Amino acid sequence: LAKSRGGNQYTFYNSELNNMVERKMMMEHDLERAIQKGQFILHYQPKINLQTRKIVGVEALVRWKHPLLGTVPPTEFIAIAEETGQIVAIGNWVLHTACNQIKKWKQMGYDHLHMAINVSARQFEDKNFISDVKEIIDKTGVHPSDIELEITESVVKNIADSSRILKELDLMGIRASLDDFGTGYSSLSVLKDLLIDAIKIDRSFIQEHTDADIAMMKSIMNIGFNFNLEVIVEGIEHEQQVEALLAISNRTIFGQGYLFSKPASAEEIEKLF
Ligand code: C2E
Ligand code: MG
Ligand code: MG
Ligand code: MG
Repeated sequence: LAKSRGGNQYTFYNSELNNMVERKMMMEHDLERAIQKGQFILHYQPKINLQTRKIVGVEALVRWKHPLLGTVPPTEFIAIAEETGQIVAIGNWVLHTACNQIKKWKQMGYDHLHMAINVSARQFEDKNFISDVKEIIDKTGVHPSDIELEITESVVKNIADSSRILKELDLMGIRASLDDFGTGYSSLSVLKDLLIDAIKIDRSFIQEHTDADIAMMKSIMNIGFNFNLEVIVEGIEHEQQVEALLAISNRTIFGQGYLFSKPASAEEIEKLF
């Protein structure tokens, strides 16, 4: 019995592994034509002013509707697209689509909203990044100050290049934020060298409610405030978390999370405005 079970287990793991490898190969192959086939869509998640509870903007989050694999999350395909280089084209598609959407919302009278767009490391480092952004802004006619680019710390490993690019974006009037803040070791030192407007505190920091966690959250928020940055807390799921955050500081705090809304289609999000 043990032997046959072992055998089955081996077969199970082996076929699991094959499935994973096949899935990855399929994604690598199909990513190339996914834009052309119209398989990407953007979902949007509102960003809330925690004091006023008003929506101040949205973050665009890409999804891939694969004909066989179903909806593939960005956590799965962005890394693959970075390896194959497809991320540049996908990133430009995201920028273009998100800019068109915010333009449309502005035209509908939702004047106060802005659009946050995630930019991956390879896209940010691409030599054409700035000219691509300029072209998309010109083509869509979006106001540069209506968009905010979210970069993660992994993007800023080359400080010299990053600060040059961020400076160019700043000159264009585009805002920038540091996403998943606090999860990497170099975050603190980069703050003084980079022209950013906001930090997005990673959701891992609000998951627990011990005194130590609250002290940690308070410290990170104060770093943001002391650098005159906007502070956005990610992953808020419970009302108690909002209350705990508001008790920490009287300064304006922004938040995103399932408590307010999951990321959803433009039509669904529009209903919340
Ligand atoms: P991120 O930019 O930090 O986005 C936040 C992620 O947390 C999103 O996952 C969002 O759905 C999820 N989230 C929001 N609120 C909550 C909450 O209350 N609880 C929990 N558990 N999760 C919450 P998603 O959409 O799967 O995106 C994952 C990551 O993929 C993003 O993290 C971002 O780094 C990347 N990504 C998404 N869209 C794009 C894109 O268009 N371009 C690039 N380069 N990366 C993207
Ligand atoms: Mg983000
Ligand atoms: Mg984040
Ligand atoms: Mg994250």
